[in-house]
Amino acid sequence: MSSNPYDWLEKSLATIHRANWYRSVKTIDSLPDAVVNLEGKKVINFASNDYLGLAGDERLIEAAIQATQQYGTGSTGSRLLSGHRELHQELENAIASLKQTESALVFSSGYLANLGTITTLVGQKDLILTDKYNHSSLKNGAKLSGAKIIEYNHCDIPDLILKLQQNRSLYRRCLIITDSVFSMDGDLCPLPQLISLAEQFDCMLLVDEAHATGVMGKTGAGCVEHFNCTGKQLIQIGTLSKALGSLGGYVAGSATLIDFLRNRAPSWIYTTALSPADTAAALSAIAIIQTEPSRRKQLWRNIHYLQQQLSQFNLLPSASPIICLGLTTPEQALKLAQQLTEAGIFAPAIRPPTVPTSRLRFSVMATHQTEHLQQLITQLTSNYYFS
Ligand code: PMP
Repeated sequence: MSSNPYDWLEKSLATIHRANWYRSVKTIDSLPDAVVNLEGKKVINFASNDYLGLAGDERLIEAAIQATQQYGTGSTGSRLLSGHRELHQELENAIASLKQTESALVFSSGYLANLGTITTLVGQKDLILTDKYNHSSLKNGAKLSGAKIIEYNHCDIPDLILKLQQNRSLYRRCLIITDSVFSMDGDLCPLPQLISLAEQFDCMLLVDEAHATGVMGKTGAGCVEHFNCTGKQLIQIGTLSKALGSLGGYVAGSATLIDFLRNRAPSWIYTTALSPADTAAALSAIAIIQTEPSRRKQLWRNIHYLQQQLSQFNLLPSASPIICLGLTTPEQALKLAQQLTEAGIFAPAIRPPTVPTSRLRFSVMATHQTEHLQQLITQLTSNYYFS
């Protein structure tokens, strides 16, 4: 036996290269902002999820420093053992108050919140109906749960109804799962219809508000608020790492749901509690979101301006800060992204297998100045019809 059991890794990597699916990291060495230093070059940043520009805000930084000085760098254990701090409870209260739910629970990331919640709520006797374009954490949570998984076409309510009619009665519990703002497209799920169907077919409904929290709705509570569905029975998941400028995830919902998750969700029970710095920064961000609606208003002015100025381009339908320019091939997306970087604009090429079709993805921030948006428009206009 002289063969090397790891040989296949190189072959698989070569396949990834051949398919043009190879990915590598890029280094930013400045504070997160509308303009950043990308590998030594100053670029306008359209690649960040920091929609409200809070990740570099001095109040969040100060809150993180103070929490670190008071409680240390690590939480030292899981919440049920030595990891729980008063700060965690304060953050959970603040999330529940923002979302107007009875209770909330913070996880170490949004990904873990989705894995933990889905696997705790359903199992082998159950059914999951999942939007085709859902985030990887929802898809993998569904797989891990062992439930029967049926995908419905993206935001396609008639298709979902058909699949509910054909399958619901065959399973014990049913969970419908959806992003509220779709992360690689920027469009919104048809939430009011999903809520009615969940009621009609006796299903639980889980909505991932990762890209909506702080952005959508009158007070920044998310799409649930945007669609006037506050107070409805559903499970809201989110992250602290996008508009809240920190790190971590959460679930918001009924007190019973949260109590159950605290007792059963493996990715909450068996992992170290969120660090004091991340917890305090997220707490500070929620206070800012609730007291400074002007940030969200500025974000929306920027979104509307860019949507309008780019209306002649092949934009995918969007109602959020995520604006995508549809392109035909991965090569085209990579080339345009490269040209834009050379011109001082940072926007990622998103391509298969992450999404079905290639695109450039622009994330708008409240802290983009009009001149930043204008530079993007000028560059796209001059580069779009490249040979
Ligand atoms: N859900 C969605 C829709 C996301 O886009 C992301 C992050 N890309 C997550 C969940 C995971 O959140 P986190 O980064 O906090 O793990």
